[in-house]
Amino acid sequence: MPELKSLWEIQILEEKNRRLKQKLIETKAPQDMKILKKEIDGERVAYSELKENYDALKKDLKKKEMEVNAAAEQLESLSRRLYGGDMTNVKEINSTSKKIDALKERIEREENDLLYMMEKQELLLSSLEEMGNRLKEKISTYHRMQNANLADRQKAEQLLAQNSTAWEKLVDKLDEELWGKYLIMKKKVNNPLARVVKGICRGCQVGVSFDDLRFLKQGKGPVFCNNCGRMLYWEK
Ligand SMILES: [Zn+2]
Repeated sequence: MPELKSLWEIQILEEKNRRLKQKLIETKAPQDMKILKKEIDGERVAYSELKENYDALKKDLKKKEMEVNAAAEQLESLSRRLYGGDMTNVKEINSTSKKIDALKERIEREENDLLYMMEKQELLLSSLEEMGNRLKEKISTYHRMQNANLADRQKAEQLLAQNSTAWEKLVDKLDEELWGKYLIMKKKVNNPLARVVKGICRGCQVGVSFDDLRFLKQGKGPVFCNNCGRMLYWEK
């Protein structure tokens, strides 16, 4: 039965398209992409929190610097007055000396604070850079995955369309009765046509009787497997 060769090709196309459709479902939202997306979202939040901390520190640092500068100016003007020789009142001299000492202390303390803040700022900045680079890398990996996924899907869709066209052409030319039989059988079993290889039905792996083999080889049929009921197909 030469018709069976076409039916066999039809069945292969159906199986190919079944797998392609399955692939399209699986690649719609791949697990590895979902995981990476979640990581990126989490790191974006952490990055902007760190950036906020950094910006706040930068602002504090500026404020502190201005305070230290103001104190230094005050110190300078007091010192000028004290050592300029204009001051004669002992009380005033003493109180100005005390003010100068207190200012010096304050400036020293605040300069230490400044140093500490600057170190912290440097650390924050390098963490930010590190985090930013890691995030950038992850985002570009995600985009690569997205593009590859899209290309895969487009290829699968293209193949699916090609197979469907080939399938239609074959079905159009097929004997109607045989096609009807195949459709009825397909409702019960996934691949209703089974190849016979070395005398064995590949649908159920059970041997085909000598008589049935003879029929098949003579091109008579359709012949059905005694065990699984599938229509048998033998290729020379
Ligand atoms: Zn069988």
